Amino acid sequence: MIKAVRGVRDILPSEARRWQRVEAAARQVFEAYGYAEIRVPLFERTELFARGIGDETDIVKKEMYTFEDRGGDSLTLRPEATAGVLRAYIEHGFHVEPKPVRLYTLGPMFRYERPQAGRYRQFHQANIEALGETHPALDAEVIALLMDFFEHLGFKERLALHINSIGDAGTRPAYIARLVEYLTPHRAELCPECQVRLERNPLRVLDCKTPGCQPIIEKAPSILDSLSSDATRHFDSVRRCLEAMGISYAVDPRLVRGLDYYVRTTFEVRTTELGAQNAVAGGGRYDGLIAQLGGPPDPGIGFAIGLERVVLLLGEEHRSRALSAFLIPLGEAPLLRLMPIARALRQAGVSTELAFGDRKLQRELDRANRVGVRYAVIVGDSELEQGQAIIRDMKSRQQRSEALDDLPELFRRLAAEQPLDDERPTR
Ligand code: ATP
Ligand code: MG
Repeated sequence: MIKAVRGVRDILPSEARRWQRVEAAARQVFEAYGYAEIRVPLFERTELFARGIGDETDIVKKEMYTFEDRGGDSLTLRPEATAGVLRAYIEHGFHVEPKPVRLYTLGPMFRYERPQAGRYRQFHQANIEALGETHPALDAEVIALLMDFFEHLGFKERLALHINSIGDAGTRPAYIARLVEYLTPHRAELCPECQVRLERNPLRVLDCKTPGCQPIIEKAPSILDSLSSDATRHFDSVRRCLEAMGISYAVDPRLVRGLDYYVRTTFEVRTTELGAQNAVAGGGRYDGLIAQLGGPPDPGIGFAIGLERVVLLLGEEHRSRALSAFLIPLGEAPLLRLMPIARALRQAGVSTELAFGDRKLQRELDRANRVGVRYAVIVGDSELEQGQAIIRDMKSRQQRSEALDDLPELFRRLAAEQPLDDERPTR
């Protein structure tokens, strides 16, 4: 038997219903804030990610799915969405549109990581990017949008918002120097990866999840003490805007995020419920990135929501959709009479299954029960002769007779009176 590749998973029908709910929530909330959907390719030139995410990031150094295609080009399955969306923004001249340009996208990402619960090699994100505007009110609006998405799904109380400012590219070197000065005497106590980070990208030490590094990270100097006055003003304004909207947050000076491109505002939404995989969404401002990718000097801010983790949080509470009508012909003549009726019901939006007329009634009723249908419609030769059908309510087990010709109208009426899509437990 050929099995799915390690670290990727099937989303089975019993779970897909929850995915649809999460995706619908994302679309609804994003569009209420004026975001328009953009769909970018699943693979791009490797160079785009190397330049856009940063050579020293975990993603580029060890997590990318990179391959050479038959034409000899080096391509990479997208590990995140921002680089591709910005490439499209530049390529299609979006920068001439009224700013900020607000875009969102939903879809799979690919990272070669160690698979565990809530961490996969193909996973899904919902992303937004707001491009061309530096005002701190936009940062707060983007964060409000993120929190509204979670509120829409009903888990406001289960999540915490963390925010930070990591300053601008100009003033960060001063902080990094202080950080290196602090970390160097602790070098031997750091995990091997952090020892390398200390040399190549010291800021990233703050982002390390290894338990042994935590006590050292906790006592590190705060980046907030090294911000330029501009960056401090920006951050204070973001905080005032959040407070004006009643959005609570914790300031976390160690929140630097794993990507090289962030400046100023960074943020993350965390839960206490998913163990080590506690980040459900993260984002920040990336003002130099569009220019770095060869575009105009437009600033930007965005976030990514990890949808697997959102679906995990949603739990089993949502049930899959059941059929509304299960038509049971007893023999071939009733089957031929019911085929066009089944089609009419489906065209009217009533989800309908039609049996094939070759099994005993009891077996079909058992099947109707198992798939979780509300009404069974039974037609044998004698019903056919009278132009009638037996309607059986599978819940109350009551039966009544109805004219065959009236079935589409009857189900339209039933649907109007009560939702026909009686829910059934997921399998
Ligand atoms: P983590 O710290 O969990 O590795 P990250 O900082 O690498 O996350 P981002 O690149 O910011 O993650 O992606 C945003 C969100 O996407 C994360 O908060 C997380 O919910 C989700 N995510 C990231 N990597 C994976 C993965 N391999 N499998 C499932 N979800 C993921
Ligand atoms: Mg990661």
